Amino acid sequence: MSSTVTTLATASAFFAAPVIDPDKAIYEFIIPANKPWSHIVEKGQILRIIDLEGQQAVDTLFYNAHDTSERYSAQDTILTQGGPYVTTGTRLMSNEGNVLGVVVADSCGRHDTSAGACSCEANTARFGHHTRYMHACRENFLIEVAKHDMTKRDIVPNINFFMNVPIEPDGRLAIVDGVSSPGDYVDVLAATDIIAVISNCPQINNPCNGFNPTPVKVLIFDPAIA
Ligand SMILES: [Zn+2]
Repeated sequence: MSSTVTTLATASAFFAAPVIDPDKAIYEFIIPANKPWSHIVEKGQILRIIDLEGQQAVDTLFYNAHDTSERYSAQDTILTQGGPYVTTGTRLMSNEGNVLGVVVADSCGRHDTSAGACSCEANTARFGHHTRYMHACRENFLIEVAKHDMTKRDIVPNINFFMNVPIEPDGRLAIVDGVSSPGDYVDVLAATDIIAVISNCPQINNPCNGFNPTPVKVLIFDPAIA
């Protein structure tokens, strides 16, 4: 491993978490089970995602709000931190090597960015043809990125907040029961103006949502005006 790789501790110290008053969100929305959502988060603001009932995967993408050809890169994020899991201190990197956001708080402790989003095609291959018409994260992403003049070619490998995907010793990904409890949250500090796009995952064929998709809450805080 190169000596230029920044450790989690260094990243965390560099992006110290601003103090926020949980009662002073400037934006609040509950994303119903199975539904998509998107919103601009301005530089310096914090996006909080709350897993209201626990064990709910929240598939998430980030784009530069001023140039959506720059977007979240799972590969660069993993390479930069030298590890596959997302948690406090993780710098969310773009395909151009810039920091889009930083995870500054995390009451869950484990999020995936390796397993991608569920799709009708993948469901069919994994679970059988009868799942072909079940709603999937890819459909949610398509609906939501269209609101920002993007198409399916703009959907890239994402973060799965609150999804537990341990990498086994033989290198395989395992999708197992989530470790998030009701009320667990993750805070992302925007390092530049970003578009956050979420699919509140509708998957019911594996344990990523406890076989029961549930609502999640998103809040935006602005420490500059709190
Ligand atoms: Zn999904």
